[in-house]
Amino acid sequence: MSVPARVRNKRTVEEALHDQTWVRDIRGALGWSGLAEYLELWDTLSNITLSTMEDHHLWKWESSGTFSTRSAYRAFLVGSTTFDPWKRIWKSWAPSKCKTFIWLAIRNRCWTADRLQQRGLPHPAHCPLCDQEDETVQHLLTSCFFQAVLVLNFAAPGACHPGT
Ligand SMILES: [Zn+2]
Repeated sequence: MSVPARVRNKRTVEEALHDQTWVRDIRGALGWSGLAEYLELWDTLSNITLSTMEDHHLWKWESSGTFSTRSAYRAFLVGSTTFDPWKRIWKSWAPSKCKTFIWLAIRNRCWTADRLQQRGLPHPAHCPLCDQEDETVQHLLTSCFFQAVLVLNFAAPGACHPGT
């Protein structure tokens, strides 16, 4: 806050740009970050010329400059992480409870021992199925031997029992 509030609250853009008044409004030492902002602002403002036209609002998230809720929603998500395979999950023929489970598993939101431990809740020390590794979603779905046997038996009963 190198510009006093009494100046900051009353200065118009036109007044600040006229004869570079904004430079004289700065009080005190700037420091490294303040100096960097000053130089950046100097470069930005050097290319601006004000016209006598009436001001009007432009919505920068739409090429037409007109506000739309669609562009506002997209702007809200700018910078957020996207998950590209979402369509394969949510647009599949699978029952909705299966889609929800896969979505939670991918986002590591299932209440496995690792998440329970993070929250300080009671949790098993090892995977209750195989008792060999920590219980995580990744373990349950990909590397737990006991779970793989269960899935095979569920999908094709007797498939893991030779001679049946
Ligand atoms: Zn296991």
